[in-house]
Amino acid sequence: MSFEDMDVDTIWMDGEFVDWEDAQIHVLTHGLHYGSGIFEGVRCYDTEEGPAIFRWEEHLDRFYESAKPYDMEIDYSREELTEATETLIREQDLESCYIRPIAFYGYDSLGVSPGDCPTRVAIACWPWGTYLGEDALENGVEVMVSSWRKHASSQIPTNAKTTGLYVNSMLAGEEARRNGFTEAIVLNKEGQVAEGPGENLFLVRDGELYTPGLAESILDGITRRSVIEVARDLGYTVHDDATISRGELNTADELFFTGTAAEVTPIRQVDNVEIGSGTRGPVTEEIQSAFFDVVERRTDEYEDWFSYV
Ligand code: PMP
Repeated sequence: MSFEDMDVDTIWMDGEFVDWEDAQIHVLTHGLHYGSGIFEGVRCYDTEEGPAIFRWEEHLDRFYESAKPYDMEIDYSREELTEATETLIREQDLESCYIRPIAFYGYDSLGVSPGDCPTRVAIACWPWGTYLGEDALENGVEVMVSSWRKHASSQIPTNAKTTGLYVNSMLAGEEARRNGFTEAIVLNKEGQVAEGPGENLFLVRDGELYTPGLAESILDGITRRSVIEVARDLGYTVHDDATISRGELNTADELFFTGTAAEVTPIRQVDNVEIGSGTRGPVTEEIQSAFFDVVERRTDEYEDWFSYV
C-alpha cells in the first residue's frame, strides 16, 4: 500500500517531530550513495490492552549493535527512541502498525569515508497488514531458490541490519517475482540455505524443527528467536544451528518463513517441487497459531515480550 493512501502525518527526525512531507534529506547524503545506514523493522499489535510493541527492547539492542561495525554513534538513548515511538503511535491513533527506526550517515562530504558526516536518526510508523498476503498465511507461498547468493559474513556483517545489504534482497525477491513466485530463498556463499530476502527459514522433518545457524550468514531474526522459544515450549525439538542443503528443501515435510513483516508464513512450493502435501503443514499450523496467540495477546505467557503504548 502506498504512503499516499495512509492516514499518517508525523515523523520523528533527529529529536523533533516533523510533518510527514518535511522529513527530507539532501541528495548528497552519504547513506544514499553508499548504503551506510542501519535500521529496524518492528511490529506493534492491536491488543485488548491497547497497542503493544513486540520485542521492542530486542529490536533496540539490534539497532545499536548494527551501528557498531560502521563506527556510527547514535546520539539518542533507548529512552528517547522509545518515547518518540510511543508518541508517534499515540498521537496518530495507530492501533497496529509497523515501526521503522533508521540511522544513517548524513550530509557533509562524499568520500567513502563518512568523515564528518553527521549520524541522522529517524523513526516512522505506519499501518501495515500481512506482508506476503492473507492467503499466504493460510495456504503458503511459492518460492524460488535465487540465482543470487547472500553475501558472506566475511564480506559484510550479515548480523547487522544495514540498508546497503538490501540490494541483495531486492535482486533475489524481484528475480523470484519476475519468474512468477512470491518470494525467494537465498543460499549462502557455500551454497547452503541461508534465509529469505527479509525472512528466516525453518524446516520440519520427522516432527523436529531445523533452522540455519547464525554462522550461515543470516540475520539473527527476532521472530526466529521467538519461534524457537515458542516451539520448544510446545515440546518440539529445535535445531537452531543447522546447515541445510538445497536438496533438503525439496524433501522437507514442511517449510516456513519467519520475520517481523512475514510473521509465520508457510512455504508450499520451492521451485517446481511441492513441499509435503503442498499446503500449510500441521506443525507449521500449530506454531503459527501459537505465534498469533502470543502477539495478539490471547495468552498471558511471554508478557515480557511486549511494551504497551
Ligand atoms: N533476515 C533478513 C535478511 C531480514 O531482513 C529479516 C527482517 N528483519 C529477517 C531475517 C527476520 O528478522 P526479524 O524476525 O527480526 O524481523
